[in-house]
Amino acid sequence: MSTTSTSAVTLDSISVDLLELLQRQDSQVTRILADEAERQATTLELIASENHVSPAVMHAMGSWMTNKYAEGYPGKRYYSGCVHHDRIEQLAIDRATDLFNCAFANVQPHSGANANLAVYFALLEPGDTFLSVVLSDGGHLTHGSPVSISGKWLKPIHYPLVYDESRDDYGYIDYDAVEQLAVEHKPKIILCGYSAYPRLIDFARFREIAERVGALLISDIAHIAGLCAGGAHPSPFPHSHIVTTTTHKTLRGPRGGLILTNDDQLAKLIDKAVFPGTQGGPLMHIIAAKAVAFGEALRPEFKQYAHQVVANAKALSEHLMSCGYHLLSNGTDNHLMLMDLRKFDAELTGKQAAIWLEDAGIIVNKNTVAGDQRSPFATSGIRIGTPALTTRGLIEDDMRRVGTFIDRVLKAKGDEAVISSVRAEARELCAQYSLPH
Ligand SMILES: *Cc1c(COP(=O)(O)O)cnc(C)c1O
Repeated sequence: MSTTSTSAVTLDSISVDLLELLQRQDSQVTRILADEAERQATTLELIASENHVSPAVMHAMGSWMTNKYAEGYPGKRYYSGCVHHDRIEQLAIDRATDLFNCAFANVQPHSGANANLAVYFALLEPGDTFLSVVLSDGGHLTHGSPVSISGKWLKPIHYPLVYDESRDDYGYIDYDAVEQLAVEHKPKIILCGYSAYPRLIDFARFREIAERVGALLISDIAHIAGLCAGGAHPSPFPHSHIVTTTTHKTLRGPRGGLILTNDDQLAKLIDKAVFPGTQGGPLMHIIAAKAVAFGEALRPEFKQYAHQVVANAKALSEHLMSCGYHLLSNGTDNHLMLMDLRKFDAELTGKQAAIWLEDAGIIVNKNTVAGDQRSPFATSGIRIGTPALTTRGLIEDDMRRVGTFIDRVLKAKGDEAVISSVRAEARELCAQYSLPH
C-alpha cells in the first residue's frame, strides 16, 4: 500500500499533531483517515462540487465548539454558557454579509439541502407551486425531485434549457420559457441556481420575471458561491429575494449551508424556519469553520483563486472540445462542464467512463445530460469541475494535460495498459501539487 514517503506527505497534509494524538488512541480510525488523505493527495479531483479546505478550516471543525448546545441565536440562547458561541456565530454572520454584500445571514443550516428546506418551510404551504429545473437537466434533488420532500409535499413546475443544438443559446436556460411558465402557473417562488449548469445565471432577468408574476426569486448558488464571492460570476444580489448556498463547494469551507437576504421580514421568517422549524442545535464547530472560510474568501487571494477556477475550466473545456468531445452548451463560463458521451460512443455510459477514469486516478462523477434516456445510476454523461485542482495550484497548461489524460482513457475503452500509464502520469502530476498544508 502506502510507502513511507507518501504517508509522510499525507500526515503533513492534515495535521501531524492531531493525527498523532488520534493514532495513540485509535489506530484503526487513524489508518482510514490517513488512507483517505493519501487518496486525495495522489488522485486528480475533478468533481465539480468538491474542494480541499485549508488546515485552518479543518482545525476549526475539530475544536471545542462542538461540545455546546447553542439552540437559538446570538444573544437569545436556551442554554447557559454560550458567550463564545455568540461571538463566533456573530463573526460568521458579519463575514458572510460582507462577503456577499447583503444585510442578513443565517449560518446555521447543516447543509445546502437544509437551507432549501428551511426556505420552503418559511414561505410555502403544502401543495404550493414553484418553478425550477428538473434534476436530469442539471437541477438539484431539493428542487422538486419526486424522491425529495420538495417534490412530495410541494408542486414543482420545471422550466427547460434550450435543447436545440442549432441555436446560439443551446444548453442555456430558456428564459422565454421561464417567463411563459411563470405567467401560466403563478408560482410563489422561482428558483434559479443549479448543480450541473455550465453557464452564467442572468439573475436580473429572473428577477424581472418574478416581479411580473409577484413571485419571490430564490437563488441557490450552492455550486457557484465561491465564484460569486470572488467576483468570477455576477452577484445574486440585489436581484434575489433570498440566496441559499452550501459552504463546501467553490466557497471552500466546511460542509454546511447558508441563507442570505436583504429583507428584514424574510430574515425573521428564515431564522424561525431554520430553528426551531427544521433544525435543533446548531453545529457550532462547523459555524466556527464557516467563519474561518469566509475570512479566507474575503482576502484578495480568493479573488485570484475564483478567476483561476474559471480560466482552468475554460482551458480544459476547450481542450476536450478540440479532441472531439461534445459539451453541453459547447463550453463553460464557470467552474464545470458537462460531457455528453452519446455522440462519442452511443454504448458508453457515464458510469463506465467514470470507472475507467477512477482507475486512472481521475475522479469525476457520472451525470445525466439533457434528454438523457438512461437512469441516474447509468447516465450518458460525466460532469467535470476545476475547483479542487485549482486549490492545489494547477493552472491552464496543467488542465490541458489533464484533458489529454481524460481523452486517452476514454479513447482506450478500458485498455489496461493505457489506464495504468495514465495512472502513473496522474500520480506524477499530483506529486507536483500538494494538498493545502
Ligand atoms: C449541492 C447542492 C445542494 C445541497 O447541498 P448539500 O449540502 O449536499 O445538502 C443544494 N442545491 C444545489 C444547487 C446543489 O448543487
